Amino acid sequence: MTRTEQTNPAGGIPQGMAGGLLHIDLSALASNWRRLRDNAGGAEAAAVVKADAYGTGIDQAVPALARAGCRTFFVAHLSEAIRVRSAAPDATIYVLNGLFPGTSSAYVEHDVRPVLGSFEEIDEWAAFCRSQGRKHAAAIHVDTGMNRLGLTVAQGMTLKERGELKDFDTALLMSHFVSAEESGNPLNLRQVEAFGAVRETLPGVRASLANSSGIFLKEKPHFDLVRPGYALYGGNPLPDQDNPMSPVVGLEARIVQLRWVEEDDTVGYNARWLSLGRRRIATLSVGYADGYPRSASARGKSGEALLAGQVLVAGRPCPFAGNVSMDLITVDVTDIPENGIRRGDTVTMIGGSLTIDEVGRRAGTIGYEILTNLGRRYARAYAGKQA
Ligand SMILES: *Cc1c(COP(=O)(O)O)cnc(C)c1O
Repeated sequence: MTRTEQTNPAGGIPQGMAGGLLHIDLSALASNWRRLRDNAGGAEAAAVVKADAYGTGIDQAVPALARAGCRTFFVAHLSEAIRVRSAAPDATIYVLNGLFPGTSSAYVEHDVRPVLGSFEEIDEWAAFCRSQGRKHAAAIHVDTGMNRLGLTVAQGMTLKERGELKDFDTALLMSHFVSAEESGNPLNLRQVEAFGAVRETLPGVRASLANSSGIFLKEKPHFDLVRPGYALYGGNPLPDQDNPMSPVVGLEARIVQLRWVEEDDTVGYNARWLSLGRRRIATLSVGYADGYPRSASARGKSGEALLAGQVLVAGRPCPFAGNVSMDLITVDVTDIPENGIRRGDTVTMIGGSLTIDEVGRRAGTIGYEILTNLGRRYARAYAGKQA
């Protein structure tokens, strides 16, 4: 049984008052996790729930994933890990952004594991464990191409010689793909090989390389544990193919006003959209302050095919008209029958053909950014939540 219930993390926004209604389907989230697990060649499937579970809500997403069988979670920050800990008391939790100086005791207090990305971090964790007389668990990150976070491959090859490794439990060796969503990119195989070489020097340590797209690579770099994020939330891990994942997030926006504009009228800030005839404009109660990117603005003339935002009105695409405002978006709804749309109706901003990938593309960004900016002032409705 599933039911839809209203929650209000931003302090209570009844659906009838909200400018935007966000729908989050927790059973789709759970089935996406199972699908990824089933594609991981027997490796353990973790879940990456950083950035408030990619905008879907740690407090709701983590229990749903734990019920589906997920035992290991990754976040970026210790503060996020503490939220995951209360949502999943028995889970294993890793913090990707590493060990900030002086935070070791907070990790241990909350039973959270740092992902150590430098010899300084390794030494600090080892010293803390020695001072406690306990070998606490941590992961070690080796950078195989991103040049962002982690030991170099050369440093990784010398890890086994470091005495500090005896002071703690190296529970996981990990690295991260640069462009796993580009299945033909030769960098993927180079990273798999470099990672495999470091791994061979540390027998018995579990290893993890694949993000969402990495799970589907022909190299099958599943190792012992996979770390999907985006695909869990419905993002397409295979940009050149049909999306194997189910949509998790939907967004509706309320129509505040409908108006007609005449030939040579402009719409919105800075008059960047020109009407070439009589057009009907719907004004929606969502804007960039809700996390909908201003880069989806439609600058040009009515009827032009612009790479800009769209909404669906009764399944029909209607293009944005003019600049996205802070709290409002204007849309050209001339093609919708006049009595087919009224003040107070909602239109679809994410859903159907407007997938998160498509919304990202139309805003000149990626679906990841759309998800992680999902607004705090939307009313949120979670479906598939178990009582
Ligand atoms: C964010 C992140 C992931 C998840 O990546 P997706 O592309 O969202 O699946 C996995 N590993 C690391 C290190 C990350 O930072």
